[in-house]
Amino acid sequence: CWVARGRWRLSLPSFQLLRPKTLDEAMALMAKYDGQVKVVAGGTDLLPSMKQKLFTPPYVLDLRGIGELRGIRSGAGGGVEIGALTTLSIVEHSPLIRKDFPVLYEAVKTVASPVLRNMGTIGGNLCLDTRCLWYNQSLLWRKSCGFCLKKDGDLCHVAPGGKFCWAAFSGDTPPALMCLGAEIEIAGPTGTRRTPLSEFYVNDGIARLHLAENEIVTRVYLPESSAGWRGSYQKLRVRGSIDYPLAGVAVALKMRAGRVEDVRVAITAVNPAPFLVKDADAHLVGVVPTEEIAGRVGDLAASTAKPLTTSALTPEYRREMVRVFAKRAVMAAAN
Ligand code: SF4
Repeated sequence: CWVARGRWRLSLPSFQLLRPKTLDEAMALMAKYDGQVKVVAGGTDLLPSMKQKLFTPPYVLDLRGIGELRGIRSGAGGGVEIGALTTLSIVEHSPLIRKDFPVLYEAVKTVASPVLRNMGTIGGNLCLDTRCLWYNQSLLWRKSCGFCLKKDGDLCHVAPGGKFCWAAFSGDTPPALMCLGAEIEIAGPTGTRRTPLSEFYVNDGIARLHLAENEIVTRVYLPESSAGWRGSYQKLRVRGSIDYPLAGVAVALKMRAGRVEDVRVAITAVNPAPFLVKDADAHLVGVVPTEEIAGRVGDLAASTAKPLTTSALTPEYRREMVRVFAKRAVMAAAN
């Protein structure tokens, strides 16, 4: 039977580990094993999912030997470049990030727990799988429910009758990076391309990312023009010391003489993709933020959030917390 053969156990499925030392070697291996490779960096998201048999790739490509993708340095055209393999702990403890890009510091220090931040990477946090309480379960659990659209099934338990997956993107750093106008570099078989992070995500719990199977996120770029913006990140989670967000709001403000000169607000964990909130600038630019104005930004953020029952908390509560957090984040960043 399957149980006796271990198919239901939370053990890793068999795979062959590939360990390139350079990016060129990694691209060659991806071309050689086209479509059969799953890329791993810190492994904090992928390995639990492999134990749950959400992924059973024949080959796992371990990027950790590629030294050129580690570290935080000044970018060629100004700004800052972060290698995709830089751990979240390194980003968290970088004096440069804390001083010049406080919204990123605020977000990264809330990811999971210190131990997981020692393993998890900034590139991995950008590429997290979407999450749903019907999906992040063992094979036995999922089979007992008839599986679902995202993996092995043909229905959605969250929105029955629909053919769309509402699993929520649950990364903390992407909304902060989107507030900073970050771009990412992606390496593929024909070279590298650079794209705004805000255009990287697909609002679909299955498609998730504009990233082909044979592409790898290699670097994150923070523009010089965002250095010095004030910031705040507010996060809702069940376990305060270690958890994915169930709602998150990032706010970055460029201030001059007590007034807002520019602003970006982004939300996470309440849609299949993180989103910049439109028109926050119409309320904030040129003014001294007040509770009343910040509340209007909260209303905008709440109307951008479309949570469904993909987590243990109700959609209504999560949307309301987006409203509250956006207001709080504006006031915290301004003062
Ligand atoms: Fe599955 Fe629906 Fe949840 Fe997507 S939203 S993971 S299709 S149950």
